[in-house]
Amino acid sequence: MKKFMSTITSKKDYSKFFTELSMKRKPSAIRELQKFIFLPGMISLGGGSPHPETFPFAEFNIKFKDGTVVNINEKETAKVMQYNATNGLPELVKILNDIQTAEHNPPYKDFDIIVGGGSQDVLTKAFEMLLSRDSTLLLEAPTYVGSLAFLKALGCNFEELTCDKDGLIPENFERVLKNWDHNKKDFPKVLYTVPCGGNPTGASTTFERKKKIYEICSKYDILILEDDPYYYLQFNEKRTPSYISFDKEQRVLRFDSFSKILSSGMRVGWATGPKPLIERLTLHGQASSLHTSNISQTFVLKILEHWNGFEGFNNHCKEVTKFYEKRRDVFFKLCEKHLKGNEGGDVASYDLPTAGMFFWIKLLGVEDSMELIKSKAVEKKVLLVPGFEFFANPRVTSYCRSSFSIASEEEMELALKRLAEIVVEERKK
Ligand code: PMP
Repeated sequence: MKKFMSTITSKKDYSKFFTELSMKRKPSAIRELQKFIFLPGMISLGGGSPHPETFPFAEFNIKFKDGTVVNINEKETAKVMQYNATNGLPELVKILNDIQTAEHNPPYKDFDIIVGGGSQDVLTKAFEMLLSRDSTLLLEAPTYVGSLAFLKALGCNFEELTCDKDGLIPENFERVLKNWDHNKKDFPKVLYTVPCGGNPTGASTTFERKKKIYEICSKYDILILEDDPYYYLQFNEKRTPSYISFDKEQRVLRFDSFSKILSSGMRVGWATGPKPLIERLTLHGQASSLHTSNISQTFVLKILEHWNGFEGFNNHCKEVTKFYEKRRDVFFKLCEKHLKGNEGGDVASYDLPTAGMFFWIKLLGVEDSMELIKSKAVEKKVLLVPGFEFFANPRVTSYCRSSFSIASEEEMELALKRLAEIVVEERKK
């Protein structure tokens, strides 16, 4: 037991965390040469880059909704529309680094960044880097279905952790680890968590709990995958600090996304963490996508530059957050109107989410939401996601997930009214 109490220095050795597959990844010779291309006086006969004179376009513009136009001129276009560094356009990586420092200020300064085609891209690369068929992943129950889609195919084992409206429950988490034989091969080394506005629950882990969970991870030497695309959509005045903001031991790999705050179709997300972890993700990138599309990256870069980096970005995030907060309030009001005090009593229970875009609704008197949602609700023209989909280990559940992001107020009202009718009918059976 004692050996788990030892203090971990910042010069952490990550080799025990990497899978055999990940350890086999070697730098691509051509990709490694790429970094010398920009050295003064260098004549490159090495790369397989197409000549930009053959590109049929000259330049492009980004027109903002306020009418401002940002131009990416011919010279810049020729440059960015070429192959580039696997971990991202250097100018974008620099701004992301500034954003991470301004917002999270990790306690170690030499953290690294890799840009991906959405956070899903880098997240799944990280899963592959750290998990194999023999591994056990610690994760919230329920959790993000998009991660489960990858993880279930990977074939690792799942240890589901209990949560409530304040996120992961540290006491239960610790109990799970205490009761595990630490010498066994399947002892978990990785925790995957969605700490803000959880998808599907809408729950956010409080700072007090985050600190306790981090301590437990430190005690048992567990890496934390902090998947946080809803971080900037926190409705409280002051954002709850991230795990990476107090990661003294360099055990957190953080995933951010522009999907919920700029655009989801642009497909830009990024991972931030200790150099050895980012380097290994980069090796994966070198052997798969080469890099994220430069059109998307330039788009984000120019928007962030136009906003003067973090300051304007942060202001934009606050506006987006207000937009979703209003929708959350409308949805909540309509839930109270239609799902409470029905014939035979309330038809649902739920908590008020403090971040994100989801409500996790328990259908009262319905043991299994799956059948009801997939047949009756679809028949009545209301789409929800059955709770079943969000559990790593299959289970019957009366929950379902509802988003308050897209539907209009009228549509929300109609949908909730229909849902109430379906549940009342079902309970009469
Ligand atoms: N993690 C969570 C918890 C998500 O909800 C999503 C998107 N729904 C992602 C990751 C993937 O986001 P991206 O669009 O950046 O790939």
